Amino acid sequence: MTDNVVLHVADVHKNFAGLHALSDIDLSVEEGQTHAIIGPNGAGKSTLLNVIVGRLAPSRGAVIFDGMVLTGRKPYEINQIGIARVFQTPEIFPDLTVLHNVMIPALSKRDGPFRLNMMRTLDSETAIRQEAEDILADVGLHERRTTHAGALSRGDKRRMELAMCLIQKPRLLLLDEPTAGMSRHDTNTTIELLKKIKSRGMTKVIIEHDMHVVFSLADRISVLAGGRIIAEGLPDAVRGDPRVREAYLGG
Ligand code: ADP
Ligand code: MG
Repeated sequence: MTDNVVLHVADVHKNFAGLHALSDIDLSVEEGQTHAIIGPNGAGKSTLLNVIVGRLAPSRGAVIFDGMVLTGRKPYEINQIGIARVFQTPEIFPDLTVLHNVMIPALSKRDGPFRLNMMRTLDSETAIRQEAEDILADVGLHERRTTHAGALSRGDKRRMELAMCLIQKPRLLLLDEPTAGMSRHDTNTTIELLKKIKSRGMTKVIIEHDMHVVFSLADRISVLAGGRIIAEGLPDAVRGDPRVREAYLGG
């Protein structure tokens, strides 16, 4: 590990009414890298992501990003600092068009949290519109830009949510199972897209259960089981680790 660490999760614990969802979590992510977090269902992966983005307060420990302590800040502030996330279940505006959905995060990055009256000026935002159209082309959704988001397939919704993150130009992108519910073809398209983002230098933390995705993308892997990191390292080392096999077979 060099001193290029941009995200540092330091001794984080999270308890839910007696349940130790996370214990002793220490995690360092280097700038520009893709760091995968894998582990069986219920391991605490989504909880860890929610602690990083400020949706959950850790019971102990801290999250540090680029030297700033994030713990105690609101999700909106953490987003403004440069962290964007794709949730396990997409959070979108189903009654708005795909294009408007992608424009909104850019608008709220500039003007503050989304308010309904922002809708009135959406069509006059030509620069943001152009940017949204370019990103939609990147993710393969340009042809669907006038479709209501609620009418998209599950895979397309995930792609749109990724576009909603990319337009924010985050320094750190967090992805919770970005290929969940996708066909093999859509999964491969998403892998290619994430590789393209990587070549632009964006740091990523990706939670994924699909090993094909993990080994196609990850520079480093942390394995969570029972709320603890049981293995951490380069993909080949993690793949061969007997504790990892056991956690998966046991999970
Ligand atoms: P993963 O994403 O690895 O499948 P989660 O982080 O969703 O796992 O969950 C880890 C554990 O914490 C599970 O046992 C889950 O039931 C529990 N858990 C998650 N969120 C909450 C919550 N808000 N309240 C109580 N228990 C929770
Ligand atoms: Mg999860």
